[in-house]
Amino acid sequence: MSKWKFPVQKGLMEKNAGVYYQNMTSSDVEERLKKNDVILIPVGSTENHGAGAPYGEDTYLDTRICEQIALATGCTVAQPVWYGSHPYHHLGMPGTIMIPEEILADYLCYMFAGFWNTGFRKMIVVNGHGQDYVIPLAIHKFGKKFQVPGVILYLHFWNAARNPNTLFSDLETKDKGGIYETPFIHADEVEQSYARALFPELCRPEESVATKPAPLLPSGNINNSAESGEGPIKWYNAYGSVGMECICSPEGVIGDPKKADPEHARAGIEHVLDYLEKLVNDIIKTYPAGKLPPAEKMTQRSKEEIDAVIKGPTHGGRHIYTIAY
Ligand SMILES: [Zn+2]
Repeated sequence: MSKWKFPVQKGLMEKNAGVYYQNMTSSDVEERLKKNDVILIPVGSTENHGAGAPYGEDTYLDTRICEQIALATGCTVAQPVWYGSHPYHHLGMPGTIMIPEEILADYLCYMFAGFWNTGFRKMIVVNGHGQDYVIPLAIHKFGKKFQVPGVILYLHFWNAARNPNTLFSDLETKDKGGIYETPFIHADEVEQSYARALFPELCRPEESVATKPAPLLPSGNINNSAESGEGPIKWYNAYGSVGMECICSPEGVIGDPKKADPEHARAGIEHVLDYLEKLVNDIIKTYPAGKLPPAEKMTQRSKEEIDAVIKGPTHGGRHIYTIAY
């Protein structure tokens, strides 16, 4: 029996549960930072997922996962980023709110700076939406701009949906020994199974519609959304490989969410939760609250400057923006 509980019945975004940063006070945060200075940053999207699932699906997938990790480990969760970047083939799709990638990368970079300046200097971005080409940009931009010690990791959570011993993906189709009939693309059998396990109250399976994918190149070249399929080229390293959504599948779905079953998501969600829990605990074991990776190995800024920003502006030091803004 797993310790994780789902279907999850309600979220904690507006609850005083000691989970979300925005629901805490300055004294709450001061106490939290003494015990656990890891913050999970859910980065979602507002995207058409068809008639059977809400526009916020990609955000709720993140937040429901992060909430359970905070309760299990004592880390903190930032309120999510609701608007994200979308690949070219989603351009023009009604209901999908598209933020340019440079703007999103900048936005994330300055979120990292603000949380670093507050004392959350170990950050894990949790994302399950197809914006993999943006988040690394934000991380490296932060690193190069500020050059301060800390940890920022990005988990595309679908990649953790695998058996940790065999590395067999929980997203695999039946013909490859998995549980699903159809491969994971978008708002389909796989994604809808996860949605119905994590936020069933916002899903309307009875209204789900199915569509067919519109590939423009032979299979075996371009990998799928969760990188669990075939082909050495990741889906976001491709243009001209798939038809535009608003032309080919205006229903907002690519696949068949009618085949979804929340029970089929159970093993995958448990593996994601197990992994994220281990990751947070690994970070805290290696660098307990208040401790950082060795500054002399991470930066060539002067010791005086680094010591001052680590102390922070309200404890006799300086704020991070004395370095850059
Ligand atoms: Zn989605």
